[in-house]
Amino acid sequence: MEKKPFNPFEMAQQQFDAVAEQLDLDRATRDLLRNPMREYHFNIPVCMDDGSHKVFRGFRVQHNDARGPCKGGIRFHPQETVDTVRALATWMTWKCAVVNIPLGGGKGGVICDPHNLSDREQEALCRGWVRQVASNVGPLQDVPAPDVMTHGQHMLWMLDEFEAIHRQRLPGFITGKPIGMGGSLGRTEATGYGVIYTLREAMKELGLDFSNATASVQGAGNVAQYAIDLFTRYGGKVVAVACWDNNDKTSYTYRSADGIKFADLMDAIDKFGTVSQNRAKANGWERLDGNAWIEQPVTVLIPAALDNMINGENVGKIKPSVKVIAEGANGPTTPDADKAFRERGVLVIPDFLCNAGGVTCSYFEQVQSNTNYYWEKEEVLSKLDTKMTAAYRAVSELARRREVYMRDAAYMIAISRVAEACRLRGWV
Ligand code: GLU
Repeated sequence: MEKKPFNPFEMAQQQFDAVAEQLDLDRATRDLLRNPMREYHFNIPVCMDDGSHKVFRGFRVQHNDARGPCKGGIRFHPQETVDTVRALATWMTWKCAVVNIPLGGGKGGVICDPHNLSDREQEALCRGWVRQVASNVGPLQDVPAPDVMTHGQHMLWMLDEFEAIHRQRLPGFITGKPIGMGGSLGRTEATGYGVIYTLREAMKELGLDFSNATASVQGAGNVAQYAIDLFTRYGGKVVAVACWDNNDKTSYTYRSADGIKFADLMDAIDKFGTVSQNRAKANGWERLDGNAWIEQPVTVLIPAALDNMINGENVGKIKPSVKVIAEGANGPTTPDADKAFRERGVLVIPDFLCNAGGVTCSYFEQVQSNTNYYWEKEEVLSKLDTKMTAAYRAVSELARRREVYMRDAAYMIAISRVAEACRLRGWV
């Protein structure tokens, strides 16, 4: 029998159903929360540099806004599917709820490969995306942000289009904006740092010390970069980093027994996280197969790339030295792999808790943009640490008290909060 292709939305629903059962949620609440409230699917026509026209497919999915306006990134990816966007929108609802910020869950996407688009074409795509959903998004409805292969410049083009349509300055419409143009200090670092704040708490509980800890990271984009930065600042050593190489159309793992330094990594990568082979060689990094990151004898694995990266097929390759999985990506671990971790007693910091630093800082950015008063970086990062630490401790405490897996404990807290908001509003 042919294997069914991986469907992240089915995985998100499967995770939800299991916890809904444990929480004994009523039928209507389950029906409401296992599907998005609204979705927009649209065409974005773009005039290309050569004068031809190309039509791109775009999406915005609003999973739930009972606790506040929807919030979540926009992805540019050639293999984007609406089910991926649905899953990610659902996880955003749980993410905002678990860190207790007053926002709901949304996600957007465009099927495209920005590597093959000029800046002008990317700008046209961003503006076209906004034109299609301009009346369904906004500071009080749904607030986009960067995600896979989108960054501050994309956000600013989108903001400019939105403001032109609405004929007002509305910087709270979008987050992840450049500094000085409504962005928050610390937003660039926030997701990666948040991963390490939660990891620090997990390591404390396990009696592990950063000075003896090693990590292998999958990904070299924004989340991976700043996770590597803070992990090494805390005294740990990152011995392997795996990333996609757009020239060779494959991924490689780079290994260094002395540790991969943040500054060297930043020097070696382009804006999409592709490592230059020459720089890697000059840094003395060894080049291995793209899958080798998972087999390293390290203390911590940080999957910080895409979904479905640790699954039933490769979970057995993880070495017994690995004590913690810190999920920087969204949906990196499938339910099969979760089962193996549960049995082996590996501590998994679940994605929607572990990588919630980005959206938490986006919330701070929105507060700053809406009040037109901007905070110092230390203030942003210290507020971020407080939120992430409190969320981690609440999840960990529940996991211990109810003797449940960390992902289930995080789901219990998040789902209960969202279900309660729906109940209080009289929706169910
Ligand atoms: N795209 C990020 C995420 O998946 C950030 C979302 C946001 O800042 O709204 O959490």
